[in-house]
Amino acid sequence: LVELVGVNKHFGDLHVLKDINLAVKRQEVVVVLGPSGSGKSTLCRTINRLESIDTGTIRIDGQELPQEGKELARLRAEVGMVFQSFNLFANKTILDNITLGPIKVRGVSKQDAEAEAHRLLQRVGVDSQAAKFPAQLSGGQQQRVAIARALAMRPKVMLFDEPTSALDPEMVKEVLDVMAELAAEGMTMIIVTHEMGFARQAADRVVFMADGAIVEEATPDEFFTSPRTDRAQDFLSKLI
Ligand code: ATP
Ligand code: MG
Repeated sequence: LVELVGVNKHFGDLHVLKDINLAVKRQEVVVVLGPSGSGKSTLCRTINRLESIDTGTIRIDGQELPQEGKELARLRAEVGMVFQSFNLFANKTILDNITLGPIKVRGVSKQDAEAEAHRLLQRVGVDSQAAKFPAQLSGGQQQRVAIARALAMRPKVMLFDEPTSALDPEMVKEVLDVMAELAAEGMTMIIVTHEMGFARQAADRVVFMADGAIVEEATPDEFFTSPRTDRAQDFLSKLI
């Protein structure tokens, strides 16, 4: 469903993505691990072209991502993204945050978009907050709204870049639970996280990055019990 072939990217002299080859199948949950600065966020951002790439190909459901234009906007809508900072529109209600994209990009009527938004908010457990503004919600609630907002675009794949890192500890679980539910329902997901317990439980496959390259790919059991590379062993030994 998501395919990266020979993807390279530089920031100036810095080679941040080195010949990345990655294929994510439909309904697969891939967790991306790696030390700080290894290129995990950049990888996520290239998948919906928030970052351009220098060489290589990225395909979503068989269609190559163009560098720009109308077609890019359409394909980008098929990739839902949830960031560390919730990125909700502060001056819009929770309901409007969710309906805006479907109305503007998918051409859904206001009425249908709102009905769908309430369904999604119910699903992530925050429908009672629909009329409030983002600042009136807890971090965990805001992040669940961000997930609902991404789902409202009916994405084929969901990308999560450290969705729980900015949350107070007691709110981490409520967000991870929503993600685990999505995974169980068959959503295709690429997840960057430092939550190793979650990674071990939810991932079909672990992709370990270091210095801009994928250095190891394994099942979670293989990766956490017997990592093959020195880099992965070193990474795991530093975890608390
Ligand atoms: P973290 O775990 O800290 O989030 P990461 O694995 O997500 O790290 P990236 O954010 O992808 O790492 O960054 C990879 C490298 O690219 C780092 O060396 C970073 O400093 C650099 N980098 C990221 N964004 C830019 C940018 N816009 N301009 C220049 N360099 C950048
Ligand atoms: Mg990052």
